[in-house]
Amino acid sequence: MGWFAPLLQATPGDPVSGGTPRQVPGVCWSRCEATAMPKPTLRLWNADLAQALGGLEPDPRLWVGGRLLEGMQPHAHRYGGHQFGNWAHQLGDGRALTLGHVDADGGPIEVQLKGAGRTPYSRRGDGRAVLRSSLREYLCSEAMHHLGVPTSRALSLCSTGEEVRRDMFYDGRPAMEPGAIVARTAPSFVRFGSFQMLAADGDAEALRALMQYTVTTHEPKHHVNDDAGIVAWLTDVAERSARMVCGWMRHGFVHGVMNTDNMSIHGLTIDYGPFGWLEAHDPSWTPNTTDLPGRRYRYAAQPDVVGWNVARLLEAVAMVMDDHEPLHGVLDAYRQAYRNARQQAWIERLGLDAWKDSDEALVRDLQHVMHAAEVDHVPMLRQMAEGLTTAEGLRDAGRIYAAEPDLTAINAWLERWLERTGGAPNHASMLATVPAFTPRNWVLQLAIDDAERGDWTKAEALAARLTRPFEQLPEDERAWWSGPRPEWAMTRPGCSMLSCSS
Ligand code: AMP
Ligand code: MG
Repeated sequence: MGWFAPLLQATPGDPVSGGTPRQVPGVCWSRCEATAMPKPTLRLWNADLAQALGGLEPDPRLWVGGRLLEGMQPHAHRYGGHQFGNWAHQLGDGRALTLGHVDADGGPIEVQLKGAGRTPYSRRGDGRAVLRSSLREYLCSEAMHHLGVPTSRALSLCSTGEEVRRDMFYDGRPAMEPGAIVARTAPSFVRFGSFQMLAADGDAEALRALMQYTVTTHEPKHHVNDDAGIVAWLTDVAERSARMVCGWMRHGFVHGVMNTDNMSIHGLTIDYGPFGWLEAHDPSWTPNTTDLPGRRYRYAAQPDVVGWNVARLLEAVAMVMDDHEPLHGVLDAYRQAYRNARQQAWIERLGLDAWKDSDEALVRDLQHVMHAAEVDHVPMLRQMAEGLTTAEGLRDAGRIYAAEPDLTAINAWLERWLERTGGAPNHASMLATVPAFTPRNWVLQLAIDDAERGDWTKAEALAARLTRPFEQLPEDERAWWSGPRPEWAMTRPGCSMLSCSS
């Protein structure tokens, strides 16, 4: 099994290795070393993924960057990004370190450590990651994978033995927290912001090299030798991104920080930070405290934000194109792909035979009744899949959070739905596509609390459980795995809201 670093062969890099934070124009990467960690301990290991990547070893020294294998060439990516709508210029991997690529069935896979120490892109950061955010990334990226949503994956989680200082509430009261490192994988961790950065540098040659790398190494069916090839590739990027965000919407996932530097060129969910899972249906809900003033990344805005991000990618790539006109078609393709994916999702989730124009109103009204009565979105659909036909049943299952819900409105909607399906919704399709289990923030928090005390039982159990999201849980396990949101979780940090501190 061999390690290699295709990005380093194909694109311009920093002549200096490591060093202090600085601007490095015109390059795609900088070589760096991982910081030595006092006591690396393997806590979670994804044996199936390790196998699929050619039989990687569960040696914690490897997955904190303390031991290098032949062919590994640690480096940090350089990229920029629009953060909350504003161009931030150079960002880069401030605490991520790519070890290299290994070959897998679908093509080369990049393995990256998150939290392995400072890089030229760390700015004022310490290059570290804490246990709570690492455990959230490990478990949720794997949950998304098993839900069928395109995502980076998690190979390992190691505690480092190091204490990391964090001001979790941004209130000037920092505390020490246990450090951890997740090894995560994707075909590459190249982002929209990687292309934007080179365009902002005005470096057409470097931009061409990065495009060439992306298609040659990861999407050999495409080429970027002329405008037609570039447009075909970008259309694919746009359509994949549409399917990804549709996956988020159908499972109630809210990313929380959809900056262009967090948008994978492969249409994968990446950079799990202050994300959350929708509970009471609320189109304006955002899990990220930093996002509260404008709610740019709220649940219902996600498809438009991805479209906006795609437009920023197109602007960057336009630099190396002769004719920009066809780029409008890429945005049209994005919108069309999202519409199609969304209709298909509702067909499956409501057990319909096909999409009718009148279903638009059915879906809209469902969202209205859910919002008004504060109904837990995905569990309502799951209960419908399991045969629920009354609002009273939903209330008794604890899935309605409003103090005085209008049960009549919910019942009226359920009747309309039954009428639409001729009294026979396709339950099999619903059961196969509406999960019985998604790892809500409060469930993750219980696993984090225990892990911080050294007990990894819940984290391990969650890692095992989330591989079967569409399977109903035994009655006695439901309350703590997939029950209604408990009262204490309403106010507890990490359960309802999260900061970017990680
Ligand atoms: P994120 O919000 O995690 O996507 O990070 C945005 C930018 O901040 C990226 O360039 C990160 O590498 C950088 N960053 C976040 N946390 C740290 C940290 N603890 N040390 C250094 N850089 C960081
Ligand atoms: Mg990021």
